[in-house]
Amino acid sequence: MLRWLKADLHVHTVLSPCAELEMGPRAIVAAAVANGIGLLGITDHNAWANVPAVTALAAREGIAVLAGMEVQTREEVHVLCFFPDLASLAAAGEEIRRHLPRIENRPEVFGDQVIVDAEENILGFENRLLLNSVDLSLEDVRDLTRRAGGLFIPAHVDRPAFSLLANLGVVPPGLEPQTLEISSRLTPEEAKRLFPTLVGYSLITSSDAHRLSDLATPCATWFHVAAPTLAEVVLALAGREGRKVVIMSNSDEKPCSS
Ligand SMILES: [Zn+2]
Ligand SMILES: [Zn+2]
Repeated sequence: MLRWLKADLHVHTVLSPCAELEMGPRAIVAAAVANGIGLLGITDHNAWANVPAVTALAAREGIAVLAGMEVQTREEVHVLCFFPDLASLAAAGEEIRRHLPRIENRPEVFGDQVIVDAEENILGFENRLLLNSVDLSLEDVRDLTRRAGGLFIPAHVDRPAFSLLANLGVVPPGLEPQTLEISSRLTPEEAKRLFPTLVGYSLITSSDAHRLSDLATPCATWFHVAAPTLAEVVLALAGREGRKVVIMSNSDEKPCSS
């Protein structure tokens, strides 16, 4: 049986140096509950080590977590990469790490990169600075993700920095993303008016939360799916087998239009 599931597929944890230290697993799950979210994407910059902790805590609240990362490609474009399970995420994470410059984090400048468990014990600190581009192209990262059965989504494409449209101007022919993420400051109609290259693509919106209050967005992505899994999300993005995706307003539960 299909049901509607509210999703936020772009949330950072304390592993991202730019995220607030309040972004621990427990607080993220509590904020997801408060905002009625049934499917979370945990997407730290070029890293994944806090996905297991959030996944374990979220499961206790009946919230599913898609195992992901936000990779910064050679073109300085941010992309969300989701994997079918933690093992394939870990393998891809190791590959991404091999392509990340060996530059040390300076916590006093960039912030701490904290790895925690489900009890929020600090397991360690990531010493390599995560806020850099890997030496892989957009297509390389897409292929690495898809080879592992994953989903590749260019992130916040309307943003003036670190985005597909800011850095490349268009959705490159041949990239063929299954969907594109727009930031929560625009409705899909506004995004397509400002960026006609988006017309014809399926769009999602997410919070890109770096602090807890970011999870309360004006619009949210809803999936009509049989289960909160990556395979079902992929079906919904393709509009197959009755699955679908819509962007709804959080204030009046109507389609989010301008
Ligand atoms: Zn980003
Ligand atoms: Zn982000």
